[in-house]
Amino acid sequence: MMSQKKCESTIQKGGEMKKGEKIYEGKAKIVYKTDDPDLFIQYFKDDATAFDATKRGTIIGKGVVNNKVSAKLFELLESKGIPTHFVKLLSDREMLMKRLKIMPIEVTVRNITAGGMSKMLAIEEGIVLKEPVLEYHYKRDDLHDPLFNEYHIKALGLATDEELDRVDTLSFEINEILKAFFSERNLDLVDFKLEFGKHKERILLGDEISPDTCRLWEKGTRKKLDKDRFRRDLGGIEEAYQEVYKRVMG
Ligand code: 5GP
Repeated sequence: MMSQKKCESTIQKGGEMKKGEKIYEGKAKIVYKTDDPDLFIQYFKDDATAFDATKRGTIIGKGVVNNKVSAKLFELLESKGIPTHFVKLLSDREMLMKRLKIMPIEVTVRNITAGGMSKMLAIEEGIVLKEPVLEYHYKRDDLHDPLFNEYHIKALGLATDEELDRVDTLSFEINEILKAFFSERNLDLVDFKLEFGKHKERILLGDEISPDTCRLWEKGTRKKLDKDRFRRDLGGIEEAYQEVYKRVMG
């Protein structure tokens, strides 16, 4: 298992871009302005929450893992033609990103039943779906991010038909790229959550892609190597994040 120290030492501290005013602090990340109005800095914390922040804790080294894993996956996606907000890594816990006006929609893609889908439809976890399932959730913590559909989204003016088509297409493409990438590393991509936003009228993938936002199961053993270890008190949380780091970066 790679220690946090070793993991941190692979990138030099700091970057030439200076953090300006803090504009947002969420459960796992802080976003800062920079001197350039088109660019923001995203800082990854070790803080973890679940169930709408009713469960709180710290996962040591999580911020470093999520920052660097996200950077690697954004680079992979960019290389395959997916536009993302990622610009570059600045330090172990910071990335430079294009300024986005985030759409208030969380897009979930599922390949294997688990979590919310299993609960909602009373289906056991671990069933490989015949085809990927795409869900939209309204990004509202106070409402527990409820499931909604394209009619709600269009009627509320949260996105147009054209924008939703683009989001769907990108989400399914991202799924294929990530599924193959993780499969080569002996991991099944069970499901994941994406957030999109607009930068100069263009839709880009934003947020992060990490063990916080994906369910990753080791092939064969189906060992959970993601945030479910925290949500479900399974233990071995730090080790699971470091294991994903090793497989993604290795
Ligand atoms: P579910 O709807 O089953 O709870 O989540 C589906 C997938 O999306 C899981 O991989 C989960 O980690 C991710 N996901 C959904 N909503 C959130 C969220 O608010 N925060 C994080 N970190 N991940 C989420």
